[in-house]
Amino acid sequence: MNNIINSPKGYDLLHNPFLNRGTAFTLRERTSNGIEGLLPPIVDTLELQIARIHLQLDSLDNDLQKYLVLSDLQTRNEVLFYAVIMADPATFMPLVYTPTVGEACQKFDHYFRAARGLYIPITAKGRIKEIMSNWPHQDIRFIVVTDGERILGLGDLGVNGMGIPVGKLALYTGVAGVPPHLTLPIMLDVGTNNKKYLQDPLYLGLHELRVRGTDYDEFIDEFVQAVQSLYPKCCIQWEDFANINAVPILERYREKICTYNDDIQGTAAMALAGISASLRITGQKLTEQRFLFMGAGSAGTGIAELISQAMVLEGLTIEEAQGRCWLFDVNGLLEKSRTDIASFQLAFTHTHTPCTSFVEAITSIKPTAILGVSGVPKLFNQQVIETMAKINFRPIIFPLSNPTSQSECTAEEAYRWSNGAVIFASGSPFAPVEINGNQFVPSQGNNVYIFPAMGMAVLVTEASLITQAMFIIAAQAVAEQVTQKQLDSGVIYPPQSQILETSLLTATKIATYIFDQGFARAQRPANIEQHIRSIAYQPKYLTLC
Ligand code: NAD
Repeated sequence: MNNIINSPKGYDLLHNPFLNRGTAFTLRERTSNGIEGLLPPIVDTLELQIARIHLQLDSLDNDLQKYLVLSDLQTRNEVLFYAVIMADPATFMPLVYTPTVGEACQKFDHYFRAARGLYIPITAKGRIKEIMSNWPHQDIRFIVVTDGERILGLGDLGVNGMGIPVGKLALYTGVAGVPPHLTLPIMLDVGTNNKKYLQDPLYLGLHELRVRGTDYDEFIDEFVQAVQSLYPKCCIQWEDFANINAVPILERYREKICTYNDDIQGTAAMALAGISASLRITGQKLTEQRFLFMGAGSAGTGIAELISQAMVLEGLTIEEAQGRCWLFDVNGLLEKSRTDIASFQLAFTHTHTPCTSFVEAITSIKPTAILGVSGVPKLFNQQVIETMAKINFRPIIFPLSNPTSQSECTAEEAYRWSNGAVIFASGSPFAPVEINGNQFVPSQGNNVYIFPAMGMAVLVTEASLITQAMFIIAAQAVAEQVTQKQLDSGVIYPPQSQILETSLLTATKIATYIFDQGFARAQRPANIEQHIRSIAYQPKYLTLC
């Protein structure tokens, strides 16, 4: 498979996370690999090892400690780590990724244990390829890279943001079966403007202010070239870059190499999936909808762009489609008389009288759906929800801002103020709500429905580019997998407990599209779904003798 797992023996074998099976080494393997006596005598099964990890986790009373136990396990025994996660993804995704990873990143330098992935500081400009050559695997297909400037909703965490690429790649494997040895988390350390970290001697990144401008752009260019040269089949996923860099970086490379930005494109596909499933409930067409966004940043414009492109596929012109998407930001409705409109918002800035009241905007535009991507809690107040319910039989309301404390409204508020009529999805999870004896199950719009499946599709096709249409296919594939029974109870995303199956079917649809459209560099297999299932990682021990 690759050089790292060829031949360690004895003590080294027990310290190789790719081959180590700990107490599950058979007696024969212990004898033939020189590890007899280095382990307690009893031979465990994988199931018993999983039970022991559960016992350890159950004895801990906070999620950060559980995150650290799992992180140590990943460093020690990769198969067991993924066996634990893949057996119960709904429980373990929040522990290895959001929300727990947020706190883990904030404290990354204080809790630092074993290094994982590659750290490339801007001081190594000119030597990036040399540094990347130190990575032990030679066939890398998926890189998640950040510069740590906008980690979740937590802002500039500098090098501490490394928890995000590490956690996200764990989900590519745990949720869609992308083999872990083909993935590589990378931190591009260009400094930090976080004063707390700059003054902390334990902070592990460059103690310098962030580099901007030409130096930064050249650094990114050199990184992309090094990846292309070392790993020509590799996809680069940009993660948690600040807006000022995220949008230009994506624009610079999206038509040249296999790359995407999950914060922009993955979020958009997640939202489109929820909208598509909602329309299965209302029985309406996408082209009949009007969307009003609370928030006009990268998430809002990214979603509006993908929805518009999906409407074009259903027969509208791009201008007609964009005309059905309206944005509202901190200064009010985006309309043509405003002088503070950024270029990426122009397509969604329409003719309208100035308007600084969201309720007035709803009354005037009559949206069928409102989406909250402002990062500001409580903006979908009682008047907003009641107004939406007055003009729509089933108003679609998605408060997508994370974390829970920033959500534009709670699930209970949306159901109560709309008398249960709302079709609801939030960015952060909410518990089921009971109103007048009726139970409502809120859906969570989570990018995890999209990015791992995209990763698997790219792996199997060796796609040369990742296009917007691929995200539309992904969204439709997710929406189609919501059962009628789930739709009848108001649920608009497939259950997270079955996420592996959802991802494999979504990956199959995306991969089929990539092959059909000629974006694949790999040979088309006779049966794409079967092929995907055959290469999907399974957490099983290799036999060593
Ligand atoms: P951003 O900073 O680029 O944009 C924020 C927008 O909100 C700006 O247009 C700003 O003007 C507007 N805004 C701020 N305060 C406002 C107010 N009081 N009233 C109206 N508008 C206001 O941020 P972003 O990257 O677009 O992310 C926005 C939010 O979306 C974040 O909270 C993030 O958690 C959420 N998000 C969720 C998901 C998900 O659920 N999967 C994915 C991506 C982003």
